Amino acid sequence: MSKLVYSSKINKIRTFALILIFAGIILMYIGILFKKTEWLMLTFFVLGVISVILSVVIYLWIGMLSLKAVPIICPTCEKPTKMLGRVDACMHCKQPLTLDKDLEGLEFDERYNKRTYLKEVKKSKEQNIKE
Ligand SMILES: [Zn+2]
Repeated sequence: MSKLVYSSKINKIRTFALILIFAGIILMYIGILFKKTEWLMLTFFVLGVISVILSVVIYLWIGMLSLKAVPIICPTCEKPTKMLGRVDACMHCKQPLTLDKDLEGLEFDERYNKRTYLKEVKKSKEQNIKE
């Protein structure tokens, strides 16, 4: 009944980083409102700076993840998207995507799959030739 609505992992992290940046700006703004109470202003400022720095770190991390992510063309909306791990969702249409062999035969290019999977495919092909 409660089927998971998949959202792209990269998009989720990106949204989180964006929220952090806004939170940081708002915190610093609140800090300005407390100009008269120096320690309060400083506290808000420090918290704001920390969340901005954290979101920058997260953005860098997304960059690293994007390098590892598998680029594919979404079979549903035909836009290029990236997958993290074996199961992920399209960034544009939220179509759940998988690299799992159970769902092979769907529009996945073999080259994009993992090495172990490639080996399996090669093996089964060899076996087919032998038989
Ligand atoms: Zn899509």
